[in-house]
Amino acid sequence: MLEVKEYLKPKTVEEAYELGILPNSLYVSGGLIAAQLKISHLERLIDLKSLKMDEIEEGEFVKIGANTKLAAFMKNPTLSKLNNGFLEKSAREIGSTQIRNMATVGGSMAFKLGWSDVITIFMTMKSQIEFYDGGFQRVPLENYIKNGKRTQIVTAVYLPKSTHFMAFEKFAKSTFDIATLNLGAAILLENGVVKDATIVVGSRPMISERIREVEEFLKGKELSNSIEEAAKLIEKVVKVGTDMRASAEYRKVLAGALLKKAMRRIYHESGIQS
Ligand SMILES: Cc1cc2nc3c(=O)[nH]c(=O)nc-3n(C[C@H](O)[C@H](O)[C@H](O)COP(=O)(O)OP(=O)(O)OC[C@H]3O[C@@H](n4cnc5c(N)ncnc54)[C@H](O)[C@@H]3O)c2cc1C
Repeated sequence: MLEVKEYLKPKTVEEAYELGILPNSLYVSGGLIAAQLKISHLERLIDLKSLKMDEIEEGEFVKIGANTKLAAFMKNPTLSKLNNGFLEKSAREIGSTQIRNMATVGGSMAFKLGWSDVITIFMTMKSQIEFYDGGFQRVPLENYIKNGKRTQIVTAVYLPKSTHFMAFEKFAKSTFDIATLNLGAAILLENGVVKDATIVVGSRPMISERIREVEEFLKGKELSNSIEEAAKLIEKVVKVGTDMRASAEYRKVLAGALLKKAMRRIYHESGIQS
């Protein structure tokens, strides 16, 4: 940061992008991660907050501007009610109140951090991401995280409206530690039978990934009777790694435990048993 010569506040996304592709430039939104990056020869900080991009609009999709703070998941009346309060409940697992008041939706996705809870949460909701890369594009978040580019400017996230029941589970060694593993489940039910399922595992420690074998396994099954088997299956198929937080073997068992917890939570919330 000592070498930074310019702090720029562009007025348009196009202008910000032209500055961002210059060598030794870095975008900043909430500033939480950007301030800690050790980048040599960093000369130019481009403040994306000057672009506003903090709107929350309800249409066919719910649009969340990239500069929206994570705190809005709990405070905004539209976001806090979606899918039985899924975003509101999930947000409680992300950092602390102070972190959620600073961190932005865009900054939490653009950096494509393996341990991001936000990416797992939005992938569970089958979100689409809009970004500028010389032109505006909108793609499934699942595809976006696979491209390695970091000059694209994230402008918004689009959440499809759905009646899926959703749960987000996270295991961390302490409240403020990053996840050893996180897991999101979205399940559409008809008379207790699974019609559609999305299962996402993140902080593996690699970036979040959908577990399609488990999604397929669940379809057409009674939710209450498939929890144990789904947990065994995820332990077998989930691709995980070893790092300082946990071994791959430990993460596999954790994936089974978090899936059971998520499915039981969905079972109770859905009211099937009553
Ligand atoms: C102490 C601490 C604890 C945390 N705990 C958690 C946690 O438990 N779970 C979790 O999921 N996350 C956690 N985070 C991460 C946090 O949620 C955000 O991911 C992080 O703060 C980045 O958001 P930001 O808005 O501050 O981005 P910045 O720090 O401003 O930017 C991060 C990077 O993304 C780029 N960028 C920012 N905005 C955009 C954009 N719109 N388009 C393109 N590029 C952009 C910047 O160039 C920068 O490289 C934690 C962070 C900290 C510091």
